[in-house]
Formats: sequence, C-alpha cells, structure tokens
Amino acid sequence: MMETLNLVLFAIEAVAYFALMVTLLHFRHRLGLGVFLTALGVMHFMETYLAAVFYVSLPFGDVSPGSSVFFSGKLMMILMLYLQEDAATVRQPIYGLFLGNLLTVGIAWVLQLHLPLQMSPDRTPDVDFLKEMGWLMVWGTALLYVDSLGIILLYEKLGDFFRRRVVLRFLISGFVLLTFDQIGFFAALNYFLDVPIAAFWAGWKAKMLAVCLYAAMFAIYEYRIRRGGAAISARSISDVFGDLTFRERYNDLLERTGRDMLTGVYDRTRMELEAPLMLSEALRQGLFTTILILDADHFKDVNDGYGHLQGDEVLKAIAARLGTTLRSSDRVFRFGGEEFVAVCPGTGHEEGLLLAERLRWTIETSVGTPDGKPVTVSIGVATADEDGADFTAVLAAADGRLYAAKKSGRNCVVGRPREAKFS
Ligand code: GH3
Ligand code: MG
Ligand code: MG
Repeated sequence: MMETLNLVLFAIEAVAYFALMVTLLHFRHRLGLGVFLTALGVMHFMETYLAAVFYVSLPFGDVSPGSSVFFSGKLMMILMLYLQEDAATVRQPIYGLFLGNLLTVGIAWVLQLHLPLQMSPDRTPDVDFLKEMGWLMVWGTALLYVDSLGIILLYEKLGDFFRRRVVLRFLISGFVLLTFDQIGFFAALNYFLDVPIAAFWAGWKAKMLAVCLYAAMFAIYEYRIRRGGAAISARSISDVFGDLTFRERYNDLLERTGRDMLTGVYDRTRMELEAPLMLSEALRQGLFTTILILDADHFKDVNDGYGHLQGDEVLKAIAARLGTTLRSSDRVFRFGGEEFVAVCPGTGHEEGLLLAERLRWTIETSVGTPDGKPVTVSIGVATADEDGADFTAVLAAADGRLYAAKKSGRNCVVGRPREAKFS
C-alpha cells in the first residue's frame, strides 16, 4: 500500500520535473536560456542531499528520489539541451555545474573551520555530515561531468546505427550512462555513508524506470509538440567531443574571425577592437608604441598592367614580408585595399623608423611584378604617446606622414620631423 503510494509519488515527481524543465527549455528563446540553466543547476545540492539521506520504499526496494528522479532527469535534460542547441551551448551547464559544485565543497570546507553559535539546543550543525556530503559532491560532480559528456557522445554514436530512432537513442543512452553513474555513485555512498548493497539494485531499477518515463515523455514532446523537430545530426564523434571539451574550433573560429581572407593578417574591424587596447596596455606599462602605416606605391599600375589576380599575389607577398620582419608581439592589420597598419608595442620612435626602413628595403628587394619590376611601399611612422595619447590620434599622425612620403617621391619612410634640441 505504502509502496504503491510511493510509486505514484515517484511518477508524479518525474512528470512534474520533466514538464517544468521542458517548458523552460522549449520557451528558452522567449524566456532566455538562463532560466532553464539556473533551474537545472539549483537542484543539484538537493539531489545530492536526498541521495545521502532520503529513501523511500518502492515495490522493488528502497530508493532515493534524489538520484533516481532528479539526477536522472538532469542528465536527460542535458541531452535534450544538446539536441535543441549544440555542443558549444550544452557545455556551459556541464562546466558550470562542475565548477559550481567544486566551489560549494570548497566553501563547506571553510565553513567547518568556524566555531558556530548554538542557537537552539537541539539543532547543532553536523559538520561531519557536511564533510561527507562534500566528498560526495566532489565525486558526484566528477561523475556528472563524465556522464554528461558520455550521454551526448553515446547518443551521437548510436546515430550511426539508427539515425532516425531518436527516442530509442535517448532511451539507450540513458540506460547506459545511468547504469555507469549508479555504479560510480553507489560506490561512494557505500564507502562514505555505509549505504547497503541492496540499495544499489533498487537504485538502479529506479533510475531505469525514470529513464523509461522520461523517454516516454520525450517521445510525446518530440512527436506531438516539436513534431519531429529533433535535429538529425550527422556530426562525427570527435567533432562533438572537441566542442564539448573546448578543444575545438571555437578558438579557431575566434582566430579566423577578424582575419583578412586574402592576406591572412588581421582585418580592420579587429584593428579597431585591438589596437587601442594594445596601446593603452603599453602606456600603462610605461612603454612607447609605434605605429606604421604602409601603402603600396602606384599599385593601380600593378593591377592595370598585370591584372587584379597578380595584384592580389603582390599584396600577399607584402603581408608575408610584414609578418617575417616584425616581432611576435607586433600586430599587422590590413587597413584598406593595399594599406597595412602595424602596431608595435614597446618600440620607440627611432627604433620604429629603423624597422620601417628595413621593411621598405625588404619589400623593394624581394617583392616584384611577374616580369621582375620591384614593388615599393611608402611608410608613415608615429609613436604613442609623443604623437598622441590614443590610437586614433597616433594613426592620424602616421597617416599624415604617409601622405608626406608619397609627396616626396614614394619608396621612403617618414617619421616625426626632427626638433631643434635645447642645449
Ligand atoms: P599611390 O602610390 O599614390 O598609393 O598610388 P596607388 O596606385 O597605389 O593609389 P591608391 O593607393 O589610391 O590605389 C589603391 C589601388 O589598390 C586601387 C585598387 O584597385 C587597388 N586594390 C585595392 N584593394 C585591392 C585588392 O584586394 N586586390 C587588388 N589586386 N588590388 C586592390
Ligand atoms: Mg597605393
Ligand atoms: Mg592606398
């Protein structure tokens, strides 16, 4: 009788959890994904606490709703988030839960160093329990991390065998990962809290039951509400794994965005974002920053004489010389068609002029048209903070000198006019 009631309550808990969480997930574009993620995360402590102390009798044994309903539910939610978004999104709660739980444990550890006041005679903080919970949380957190990556990778892998059977994939992934989790988590429960072996099987059955309930609700959701909207993804496991573990294209993408397609140097948007920061950072450290602006001479003639494709090759060659002549802390940006800007932190004006002269010479002697005519450049040089305190001002000064270089016959470097020295 009592067991039946517990079973009914168990099912109600699973349905309520799933219904609420899926609602938040489904309306995430309206509510913001943060609502779903926060709700997911806030349950974690309760799950662990319940798994440690709260057990009820079900027809097949004594189980904790904490791990069977709520923990299982969370893992399935992580998988559902992945199905509706992507690996780069789902890793946010995975890493957030991982780090947040470590923080919880760290704080619990510090708290136990306090000497708390006895506020009520029959309520003393149970520090030993807190510490045990702490270890359980660390262990549970590590398992959750592995479970989350595992369930997504397995779901993807199963796609090789039955791509369109999404509910079956959901069900099998849940079975496998929660079995793994049960073994891992139970080992800790048994070790720290002497939870008896019988609870292992009962807990396992409860998790499998929960997965069945979740899979049934998942099926209803996918086919009735989302109408078969589950992405039939065909990504390779290593791609997904790369995304999940941050190893991937995210950085690569960051590196590539803001790159100029033709020459591979950074583009003008990136210059506007980064150059001012480079300048202010160097100034903060008390260093000069020299800016070179370089423009190819009579470049129209190159295009007119040899075609735009040859012109492009020349631009690539100029960018390559910039790359090899400058230091790794310097940055090159393509400013316009055949204009490049180099930002060189920690470089004073005299040094900058020598650098520009070396560049000019390198380009003149190594870059040319197909029939061997040299291509030359003119360069304007200015230095922060003597020529201006912010990037725009220094660039404007350099640009004025570039114009002067063009006027004085091209193929030359122009820097700050020499001042009469005080004696
Ligand atoms: P100056 O010495 O005064 O700089 O003469 P210029 O001919 O180089 O004059 P200007 O700087 O005004 O001309 C730039 C030319 O660069 C015009 C444009 O056709 C060419 N150009 C701009 N972007 C590209 C590109 O991506 N590829 C090629 N091939 N040519 C480009
Ligand atoms: Mg030019
Ligand atoms: Mg130009």
